[in-house]
Parts: sequence; structure tokens; C-alpha cells
Amino acid sequence: MHNIDTVYIDGAFVTPHGDEAFDLFNPATERVIGRVRLADEVDADNAIAAAKRAFADFSQTSRGERIEMLERMHAALAAREDALFDAIVDEYGAPVSRARWMARHAADVLMEAARMLEHYPFTRRAGSAEVTMQPLGVAGLITPWNNDAGFICGKLAAALAAGCTAVIKPSEMSAMQTRVVTEALHEAGLPRGVFNIVTGKGERVGARISAHPDVAKLSFTGSTAVGKTILRTGADTLKRVTLELGGKSPFIVLDDADLDEAAKMALAAGFMNSGQACVAGTRILVPRALLAAFEASMVRQLADVRAGDPRDPATTVGPMVSAKQWQRVQRYIRVGIDEGARLVAGGEGRPQGIQAGWFVRPTVFSDVRNDMTIAREEIFGPVLSIIAYRDEEEAVAIANDTVYGLQAYVVSTNVQRARLLASRIEAGRVLVNTLAHEPAAPFGGFKQSGIGREYGTYGLEAYLEPKAVLGVTGG
Ligand code: NAD
Repeated sequence: MHNIDTVYIDGAFVTPHGDEAFDLFNPATERVIGRVRLADEVDADNAIAAAKRAFADFSQTSRGERIEMLERMHAALAAREDALFDAIVDEYGAPVSRARWMARHAADVLMEAARMLEHYPFTRRAGSAEVTMQPLGVAGLITPWNNDAGFICGKLAAALAAGCTAVIKPSEMSAMQTRVVTEALHEAGLPRGVFNIVTGKGERVGARISAHPDVAKLSFTGSTAVGKTILRTGADTLKRVTLELGGKSPFIVLDDADLDEAAKMALAAGFMNSGQACVAGTRILVPRALLAAFEASMVRQLADVRAGDPRDPATTVGPMVSAKQWQRVQRYIRVGIDEGARLVAGGEGRPQGIQAGWFVRPTVFSDVRNDMTIAREEIFGPVLSIIAYRDEEEAVAIANDTVYGLQAYVVSTNVQRARLLASRIEAGRVLVNTLAHEPAAPFGGFKQSGIGREYGTYGLEAYLEPKAVLGVTGG
């Protein structure tokens, strides 16, 4: 049993004022494996006060000093990779290959921010003015459970690179992963108060951070509903807000694509992170004339998709994070059946032979219309919809017929044709014939998938404000 009974404020592990206990589960066994004592509003206030005190000096640090701090943080986290990996598998249930990527990614984002910072022009000219990009102040970073360490480190790296200080409110369901990250970052020896980590409930700690007048910036990843609440709450003090929300990403197979390649990629894009990914390609758009052949290829390749014990290297889909999430996914599968979609694979209940754990059968529906619930709402589980289209015009129309616009995928043997199609898709990122991440490129959504961008210089600028000084140049 892991007992987590401290939060991290002003450079020290301290007993929180909050005294609510929250159980931590292994989603593969449904057993309680730990308990966390949650922070409350008083702890949020203390963390914000510490970050505010630290901002005075930290905002004056040089680029070189901040690069050096990010490198120390990277080294400290990289040294704890195995501990983080174990926490990810045990507490979140990610299959080992995914968990290894997640553990490395959390350290990598710190180094990527350090490299990006080397060349960022903080001062530039605009006409006769000198423009300086200044850090905003205290940043409130609110993160979900589907990539706890990666979101904490990614947001923190950008905030610190800019010269902001931070208060982080991770998901209460990820306290073991957060503990490993906090211990590592503590070892990096940053000035006290520069970052503070207060694990607590969203409606208490998250809401306090969103409303607090001493917080200048909010960066949130999570559901669209909570994102809207945070935007409304932050409006009172005109906080700068970055929101990374949900998606219903189209995966467009063009008629010149290699169907086996496309089906393989569609399964990988749809079932990544056990389907608990905001960028999952959940609407697979296929030319009607090729539908039967594509489905057949999918079914063949589904033999390689294994849901089960995340510690088994053959597993590709782990359990859902919680009972609530499992029930949510089950409900969507039932709705899909009720609304007349045809099951190509999977269905309700647990995979065969599995008695316990929040496992879902990897599910693919076909004959899905884009107005069905399963094509419109984010399911956040391994449930995919194949939607047939007549021609490219209709493919574009279906792809864009959604309130979301986070990511899209295009598969084609003709890159020029795919590029043209990509230019017509309303999404923050379009991946052509690839599933690779590009850390230098902006990440974020059009429409209700969010506001603003993360990663690279675009992500850095989300923590900066331009100040123009006139009359000082040319003399
Ligand atoms: P959520 O939006 O409920 O929670 C995300 C974070 O916000 C958590 O730290 C939570 O404690 C906090 N929070 C909750 N209410 C808050 C409030 N009123 N004020 C401030 N902070 C608050 O998301 P979840 O419960 O983690 O997952 C639910 C759904 O969110 C998923 O099914 C999925 O659709 C979506 N989601 C999206 C992403 C993404 O990367 N875009 C990630 C995780 C979840």
C-alpha cells in the first residue's frame, strides 16, 4: 500500500490542510493499492502565495539559468524512469510499451523545452518599438489522468522556460505517478516556490486556482465541459487561458491508399493509450466502394490487438482508468448498437477470459452515420466508428462536421493529394501517413477542442506577454 500524505509547497513536502482521503486503484485488478490525502482550498492558497513570492526573482533569471534548471529537471526525471514506469503501469494500467514511452516522454519534454529556449527571440523590433516578451506571472496547471507525468512536465517546462512560476493540480487518480515526478523534480534543486504541486479534487483545488486573483495564467487539459467552466471562472480576473480538450478525430482513408497499411494505422491511431487519448482517430472515413475490403483487413489485423494484463508485453490495450470510465464506455457501446451501427468486432462486457479489471473489448462499429451519438461524442475508450463516404467532397464535409477539431489523419499514396485535403480539414494537427509526434510543432485544437497551443515556441508564447517600449530605438 502506498500512503501519500504530503503535498509539495514552497520547496518542501508538507502535510496538507485538507484531510480527505482518496483510494488509489490498480485498474487491472480493481484492488486498492494506495491512499492519498487530498489538498484543499487552503493548500491551493498557500501554493499560490509561494509561487507569487518566487516569481519576483525567477522572472529575472537569465535564459541560460533556466536552460540549466530544465536540464537538471530532465536528468532527475530520467534517473527515475523505472519508478515512474512502474507507477504508470500499476496505477493507470498502460501496457508496458506505452508506459515506457510515457515515462520517457515526461523527461523528454523538459529537454525539448531547454533546446527550444536556446534560440527563442525574447526581444525584437516592431517598427520603431522594442518588443520584449515577458513572463505572465503565476501559472495554474490543471492536468488529467491519461498521461499524468507527461502533462505535468510538458506544461511546467513551458511555464518555467518563459520565466513563470507554477502551481500544479494533477488528477487525484494519478497520485502515485505524481509522487514520483514530484520527488524527482525536488531533487533538481530549483529555488523554493518556483513550482508547487497540490493534488486535490477539481471542484475544490482546481476551482480555487481558476478563480484566484494572483494566478495570471491557466493551462488545462481535460474534458470540454470542465474546460468551459475554467474559462468562465478565469474570466472574472481576465486570466490568459490555454485549453486542451476533447476530440473526435477523423481518420481519412483515400481511395489510393494501401488498405492493409491504412487499417493497421487506423487501429493504432484509434486504440492508442487504450483509447483514452484526446487525439485518438475514432471516426474512420473510408470510400464506400472499398468498405468491405477495408473491414476485412481490419478484422484480420484485430487479431494482433490484445486487451489484457498491462504487464504482458503482447498486450496493446490496457484497462480503463476507473470503474466510472468503464461504465461510460459500456454505455456508448450499448448506444451504438441501439442506434443501428453494425458491430465488426468487440461489443459489451469484458474481453473473453477476463473476470476482473476495467477491461473493455476493443470495439469497431461499421455502417456508422456521422449523426449517431458514437460519431459525435468523445467516448475515451477503445471504440471506433467506420463511416463510409462517397467522394472526397463528402469526406471533407464529414470530417469537419463535428464540434471538435483537435487532430486528423490522412492516409494516401499521393502526398500532394493528401496535403491538399489536409488544408481543408478544421483541426490543429493533420498527420499524413504517420502517427509520429513532432515536439517542435504546435499542438492544440480548433473549435471546441480548445484554445491556444502547446509545444515549441507557440507553447512558450502562451506564458508570455509582449511589451512594446517606444522611443528607445534608433537613438
Ligand atoms: P476532467 O476534465 O473532469 O478533469 C481534468 C482535470 O480537471 C482534473 O485534474 C480534475 O480534477 C480537474 N477539474 C475537474 N473539475 C474542475 C473544476 N471545476 N475546476 C478546475 N479543475 C477541475 O477530466 P477527467 O475526469 O480526467 O476525464 C473525463 C473526460 O475528459 C474524459 O472522458 C475525456 O473525454 C476527457 N479528457 C480529455 C483529455 C485530453 O487530453 N483532451 C484528457 C483526459 C480526459
